Amino acid sequence: MNIQNKVKTQLLGATGRLKADGNHSADREKILSPLERGDSVIRLFCTGCGLTFELTRDLAEKYLRSVSKTLPSIVDPDEYLESNGCGACTGSRDSFEIKKV
Ligand SMILES: [Zn+2]
Repeated sequence: MNIQNKVKTQLLGATGRLKADGNHSADREKILSPLERGDSVIRLFCTGCGLTFELTRDLAEKYLRSVSKTLPSIVDPDEYLESNGCGACTGSRDSFEIKKV
């Protein structure tokens, strides 16, 4: 194992993902700041690792569909999608909920 991979493994664990400790709460300022990508409709906040992502409508709908929920046609600027895991961490990604900051 080379040094870079060794450091990465120590930081991220053997899975290559951040460990989801589940103790994070959304940053109000970050949620309320304007979306940066033109095709984004909502932010995803992961309580597992604390990261925030911008989602396209397709992706947000896909996540919500997995828990039998739907995305409103108009998303308010203070709304965000909260999940218990994401692509960057080991969280289970079986909970998605639209919340307001
Ligand atoms: Zn995460």
